[in-house]
Amino acid sequence: DAGLYIVATPIGNLGDITVRAVDVLRGCELIACEDTRVTGKLLKHCGVSTRMQRYDDHASDRQRAALIDQARTQPVALVSDAGTPLVSDPGYRLVRDAREAGVAVTSLPGACAAITGLTLAGLPNDRFLFAGFLPVKEKARGDVLAELSGIAATLVFYETGPRLERSLRAISDLWPTRDVAVARELTKLHEECRTGTAQELAQHYAEHPPKGEIVLLVGPPTGGTAEYDCDALLAEALADFSPS
Ligand code: SAM
Repeated sequence: DAGLYIVATPIGNLGDITVRAVDVLRGCELIACEDTRVTGKLLKHCGVSTRMQRYDDHASDRQRAALIDQARTQPVALVSDAGTPLVSDPGYRLVRDAREAGVAVTSLPGACAAITGLTLAGLPNDRFLFAGFLPVKEKARGDVLAELSGIAATLVFYETGPRLERSLRAISDLWPTRDVAVARELTKLHEECRTGTAQELAQHYAEHPPKGEIVLLVGPPTGGTAEYDCDALLAEALADFSPS
């Protein structure tokens, strides 16, 4: 069917592509993607030969309008280099404009590094806040961390190897006792999830400079979720679905 399809792709292990994703990518007229070489490899792996077109957040209004116009009459897919589009990736403006134009938007769920890290870290996950990438500059990074300080939830950040140690030191200065996890190279051969205080992890990664892609997670302030009985809330919510 015509419309815009937001298609999640693997974050490392190609086996994580969904059956539905392959169907939609094969059946659509055009795949908008960040990098045709990256997506080309995935398509080849899946035996899909659909035409690709570059699309990212720097696309002009006219380019975006043309994609939306095409999606009025044909199925058009949006993918990013890896994982779920729009999650620290391009696509928000395209979805916003498609909705405004009355074009059907369908989202195909799949891999997302933030969620994969969250399910691996063993930190409280009744409430979490995805905070994307921390700013590179020290002052801006400190401001963002200070802003997040009072939040009673696990914080999830995207991070890069060269910046990990600095971020861990900043977190250690602000929250020396919180539980922290570093989830690296998720779904790939050298997947690793290491937990400890920010200080301990900073020390470790100073000695072993991390390679690859990283999700950094910080547990809530101690006792932050204690007053928040998630089992009771879950039971209450589920009760609404029980046949009476
Ligand atoms: N849209 C993607 C998603 O759904 O996860 C995220 C795109 S963002 C530009 C890229 C960042 O995601 C990386 O710098 C890293 O922080 C995180 N990431 C992506 N793949 C990862 C993996 N396999 N393991 C750990 N982190 C990953």
